[in-house]
Amino acid sequence: MYFRDQRKELVSRLIREGYIRSELVARAFSKVPREEFVPPRYRDYSYHDTPLPTLKGQTISAPHMCAIMCEELDLKPGDIVLEIGTGSGYHAALCAEIVARSDEKNRGHVCSIEIDKDLTKFAYENLKRSGYDLDVSVVCGDGSFNPPFRYEFDKILVTAAAPHIPNRLLKSLKVGGIMVIPIGSEFIQELSVIIKQQDKIVVMRSGPCVFVKLRGINGFSY
Ligand code: SAH
Repeated sequence: MYFRDQRKELVSRLIREGYIRSELVARAFSKVPREEFVPPRYRDYSYHDTPLPTLKGQTISAPHMCAIMCEELDLKPGDIVLEIGTGSGYHAALCAEIVARSDEKNRGHVCSIEIDKDLTKFAYENLKRSGYDLDVSVVCGDGSFNPPFRYEFDKILVTAAAPHIPNRLLKSLKVGGIMVIPIGSEFIQELSVIIKQQDKIVVMRSGPCVFVKLRGINGFSY
């Protein structure tokens, strides 16, 4: 079966299983070619609903986890999104498809930070090959500490497990903005959905999950 058919089948499955709930997320999953973000030796598994290795023991999240996070972020055309943990660039491309490609007149952007130099290059190459390099900016750095953007974001997506909510990231979130972040130990976490209101921070839990650990100053290790 061709990748295009496999992609279609995966989208139907994620809808059937309740992970994809909105048209925008369904559209993004049917557009972004996951096979372009997977190392060549794992290409045949691109449309299995499972995490896959990127480089150095890091992983590209399972499609259902990307779907849950995209839905919880309530991404809208025009949103400016910050992602911590670019990895392969796949999740950033899904977000870009929603915020920058689903409404011509309302083009948002995704800024993504990756701590590992080789992965930053890997992600950039994947994004360029699949045509998302103008809608996603990738930089190398410690996203847990000081995102190199003087900007407040509509949405923040953290795709590595954090021991607590990094304060610096909360400051980078607009009032009314949403952050999705796995919080817990190095081995298991709770997917947390954080809404920044004018006078308070609301934290909701969206179920257990397992991510690779966040490194850096507000992560588990340097
Ligand atoms: N979103 C990715 C998967 C991310 S895996 C995808 O779609 O493929 C988690 C990534 O977070 C890893 O690539 C890891 O190197 C990166 N990471 C860990 N700590 C980080 C930090 N402090 N700042 C930026 N990236 C970090």
